[in-house]
Amino acid sequence: MANSERTFIAIKPDGLQCSLVGEIIKRFEQKGFRPIAMKLIQTSEDLLKEHYIDLKDRPFLAGLLKYMQSWPVVVIVWEGLNVVKTGRVMLGETNPPDSKLGTIRGDFCIQVGRNIIHGKDSVESAEKEIG
Ligand code: UDP
Ligand code: MG
Repeated sequence: MANSERTFIAIKPDGLQCSLVGEIIKRFEQKGFRPIAMKLIQTSEDLLKEHYIDLKDRPFLAGLLKYMQSWPVVVIVWEGLNVVKTGRVMLGETNPPDSKLGTIRGDFCIQVGRNIIHGKDSVESAEKEIG
């Protein structure tokens, strides 16, 4: 059962603009996870408001919504043992300067508002987002 744990990852506009889609997919594949769904999408204001519902009172939300709609994003569902927790470790911290080298945010970005990738931090929220 644990081997079928799933997480939701989104490569944000800056990830595409910096040509990091292949690199990010490679890291998850080489770690041992299986991609079970993958799509290039254009997000909408309504979808993002739902996606970022926990951040509804944060001052940076408006800028985040605008930025996320500025370019397509690649959404991927990954499956495997402990993929939610391991996926978050692979992403690094929300704020790139706090991210260790060797993580995606630690290696490829410098600014919190342009941190390349999104990933869920619990099995429940990942399942909700996959839906
Ligand atoms: N964010 C931002 N400024 C901040 C904090 C967060 O622009 O001060 C953005 C950033 O893109 C982050 C997203 O809001 O990835 C969601 O924030 P959360 O705290 O959920 O971080 P995450 O789960 O992405 O690490
Ligand atoms: Mg989050």
